[in-house]
Amino acid sequence: MVLNITAVYFHELFNKKIWDIINNKFQNFPKVMESELNLKNVRLIEPPLISEELLLKVHTKEYFEYLKRRWDYLGARYTVGGCVDAAERIMKNEFHNALCFGVAAGHHAGPDNGWGGTYASVSGGIIANLEQKFTNFKIAILDTDSHHGNGTRAITFGKHNILHVCFCDTNKIEDNGTKICIDSGYSTNDTEYLSKVKNEFIRRVEEFQPDLIVHLLGHDTALGDYGSRGLSKNFFLELVKLVKNCAENVCDGKYLINTHGGSNIKICEYIHPRIIRILSNNINS
Ligand SMILES: [Zn+2]
Ligand SMILES: [Zn+2]
Repeated sequence: MVLNITAVYFHELFNKKIWDIINNKFQNFPKVMESELNLKNVRLIEPPLISEELLLKVHTKEYFEYLKRRWDYLGARYTVGGCVDAAERIMKNEFHNALCFGVAAGHHAGPDNGWGGTYASVSGGIIANLEQKFTNFKIAILDTDSHHGNGTRAITFGKHNILHVCFCDTNKIEDNGTKICIDSGYSTNDTEYLSKVKNEFIRRVEEFQPDLIVHLLGHDTALGDYGSRGLSKNFFLELVKLVKNCAENVCDGKYLINTHGGSNIKICEYIHPRIIRILSNNINS
């Protein structure tokens, strides 16, 4: 029997610095997920650096020059590099799914700007790399960070093979129905939010039939974190179960999670080891 491998991308640099916005939430990683990393179908992968050539396919020359001078450039490069590698290897059936830890890169980075702790685009890197290696692929991006993914939206706008469903503060449908924003509400609860994910994301994914689901998973929405929408820590586990199940039904389980916002160390250390168990199917162990 072929093992379905869950890849966990983590670089030692991620626990050594105090990053913008998310602070030092990874200070106890990978130690806190030691027993999960020992599961027989889980692999810890050291993320490779994204090439500067690929970064230049996503960002303008001028912005790239700024990015290179930032103190957190290396962290951003490992983050994008890990996600790019994971997406490609999932598409090639080498890995079943992946949890990619990240710093300094993510959904607020657009072609010529970046802020809010994210300065290089993860989604942009994934897409630019797949464009070089695959034809006619489709990706569904789910953004459940508390804030609007302006950078991801700017980078994916006009690409109708990319479905981007972003849970933020407005209700909007644009770009031929492939770019969606959902107002998740400030004072919501687990059940309400999960039902919005079912109605607004899962339903669309079943119709869109992507080859891969990319999930930008911030826990800043948790009660006690800086972008709180009143969600419990167990919400994140239910969310991952829901999306994983959808991926199994729609795209042979091809599912990549990239960590996003949130700085609460307790929540961070609670959810990520459990997410690995869910991804690798060892939910009860
Ligand atoms: Zn956020
Ligand atoms: Zn949005």
